[in-house]
Amino acid sequence: MIERLNKCPLCKSGLFLNKQEIKDHAVSKESFIICKCSKCSLLFTNPRPDAESIAPYYDFPEYFSHEDKAKNLTQLIYQKVRNYSVKKKVKQLSALHKKGRILDYGCGTGALLSEAKNQGWKVAGIEPNSKARTQANLKLKGKVKETLHDLSKDKKFDIITLFHVLEHIHDMKKTVKSLIKSLNSDGYILIAVPNPESWDAHKYGTFWAGWDVPRHLYHFDLSAMENFAEIFDLSLVGIKPMKFDSYYVSLLSESYLGPNQNLLSRYFKAFFSGRKSNQEAKRKPGNHSSNLFIFKKK
Ligand SMILES: [Zn+2]
Repeated sequence: MIERLNKCPLCKSGLFLNKQEIKDHAVSKESFIICKCSKCSLLFTNPRPDAESIAPYYDFPEYFSHEDKAKNLTQLIYQKVRNYSVKKKVKQLSALHKKGRILDYGCGTGALLSEAKNQGWKVAGIEPNSKARTQANLKLKGKVKETLHDLSKDKKFDIITLFHVLEHIHDMKKTVKSLIKSLNSDGYILIAVPNPESWDAHKYGTFWAGWDVPRHLYHFDLSAMENFAEIFDLSLVGIKPMKFDSYYVSLLSESYLGPNQNLLSRYFKAFFSGRKSNQEAKRKPGNHSSNLFIFKKK
């Protein structure tokens, strides 16, 4: 079923306007409207397929954050970069907090958690996709569950991560509240999301792969993230760039923009766009194609 929201899913304000119509280039080719909240500046897909009817929109071979086997060059590059970047991410986590318990919400096939485990963290994961969860559990011996309810309530986490996950959660407020409850008082919650105000978002316009409607239900610019912190009573203590994402998003955007252009030209253009986006973003934090927001309990 399609659901129409009459309130902003973040701040509950009824004041929002249609911003633009975006096509689902990856799967359905259907178009969706993105609204902008006048109060908190969140962008959100509205109307949207509800939680029960969204599964077919995820049903495409390129959705390889759920796959471990590379089927083409783009996937191979994606995986090499992912392997490198998970090492870097775990180092960042270890610099933030002494090694304790980590929960990766929306952990996919468990790449981040495997590395965290290798580096001495106690790990747990949530992954609703059964195929990805099965793969994750082969590496992580049953530590990955389907929902938050499946975790034991008495153990809290020092770090909770959501890498490109928050924008997919229908019940965002309820989920974030439960996550915060399961965070230790000195713990951190790390949220990576694409940036609709980035250089590459403006360059590619409606072809920008970061829109990814209707799978992406929300888009957060810096101001929406500051409001997010306030609404959940968190302190925004850091913003880190996700420098590889600009290349990856540019590559996907190029394939939507010119599906018939040759692969080499697509790679070149994506490389230059990704690099330009990172250069432009240097001027102030929160400007990158995707950003990692680090929050602490107040
Ligand atoms: Zn709002």
